[in-house]
Amino acid sequence: MLDCIVIGAGPCGLSAAIEMQDLGLTVEVIEKGNIVEAIYQYPTHQTFFSSSEKLEIGGVPFINKELKPKRQDALVYYREVVRRKEVTVRPFETVQDVARIEGGFNVTSLRNGQVVTRTAKSVVLATGYYGLPNLMNIPGEDLPHVFHYFKEGHPFYGQDVVVIGGKNSSVDAAIELEKAGARVTMLYRGESYSPSIKPWVLPNFESLVRAEKVTMVFDATIDEITNTEVRYSVHSEQSAVKADFIFAMTGYTPDIGLFADAGIEIDPETGIPAFDETTMESNVPGIYIAGVVAAGYDANKIFIENGRFHGGLIADSLKHRLKPETAR
Ligand code: FAD
Ligand code: NAP
Repeated sequence: MLDCIVIGAGPCGLSAAIEMQDLGLTVEVIEKGNIVEAIYQYPTHQTFFSSSEKLEIGGVPFINKELKPKRQDALVYYREVVRRKEVTVRPFETVQDVARIEGGFNVTSLRNGQVVTRTAKSVVLATGYYGLPNLMNIPGEDLPHVFHYFKEGHPFYGQDVVVIGGKNSSVDAAIELEKAGARVTMLYRGESYSPSIKPWVLPNFESLVRAEKVTMVFDATIDEITNTEVRYSVHSEQSAVKADFIFAMTGYTPDIGLFADAGIEIDPETGIPAFDETTMESNVPGIYIAGVVAAGYDANKIFIENGRFHGGLIADSLKHRLKPETAR
């Protein structure tokens, strides 16, 4: 039986696995995609807001030509970390169930339709939030020209595109779309620019709005998406804007199904799972939480920068529990 199974090979899950390995524990990481799947899914030309050293895990230096790395730099870095630290990752396996057994847990996953079961004395849930977009629950949201992820601007040259939302993904997408020759309207429910927008990005965006290259609408409530337009209201006054494509950059939410099934209590208001902040152990003894899932529905509280340190707390706790004679 392994000492631990980590579910999710994001930066925080990988960091936890390495911290445990470094303390002599046996660990495997199960991942539904491949290493750092969420970063792979970012917009193709995404630049991190963090400098490279703040994204480092496992004590492996992240040396980069620019202060702030791009998506591609981070993909190379995290692959290299996994290789150097010899982390065992089981890619393309989606964990379906975590069930308590005598002395540990059965972790059951699906790979190419085949059921695989592994056992471990403990489990770390580090499943992130990027897999499930926040839905608006409005008519037309499921039409094929409505997207919740943005990759590149090029295909939208000469198209009328509506971006819904008002934080970093929305602003970044609007800037790239405009650059690629799309006619962009941004519909945001807030009454002014969000303080979450990165301060070095906002001036660029505001200058596009002032130059009437991007149309910005505040206080916009989205009513409906049709084949040709987005219908919305501002202070109960209804309007519509032509839309060939819609990017609903409304944020993402953790998939708490696995947590609830494993018996972890979730605050219904905040989505925060019950855990001890000093060890990251949940209310289910032996199941730990790592990374952005610890922030519940608030995606702007835990990042790679701070979530990467959860692994050290977990490793210390597990070492005391599983190998007390050698604990530091
Ligand atoms: P994730 O990276 O989301 O990893 C979770 C992993 O779990 C995924 O690989 C997923 O495939 C896997 N998984 C989920 N469910 C299962 C399952 N059932 N079975 C198996 N595997 C599963 N943060 C910063 O600190 N600095 C930045 O500059 C920055 N820039 C960002 C830019 C963009 C565009 C976005 C969207 C986010 C950015 N973030 C940044 C936030 C950062 O990406 C997240 O905080 C980070 O990815 C969280 O890491 P994690 O390991 O907790 O989760
Ligand atoms: P987000 O921060 O959760 O923002 C979602 C936006 O959608 C908010 O403006 C929100 O409005 C709006 N929204 C949510 N639900 C809605 C609904 N039902 N109807 C209408 N609007 C709705 O998501 P994000 O911008 O994708 O960012 C996610 C994470 O990625 C964050 O941690 C962020 O920092 C990170 N990120 C980083 C970068 C970068 O490094 N450059 C770029 C992009 C994203 P309110 O403002 O009213 O809440």
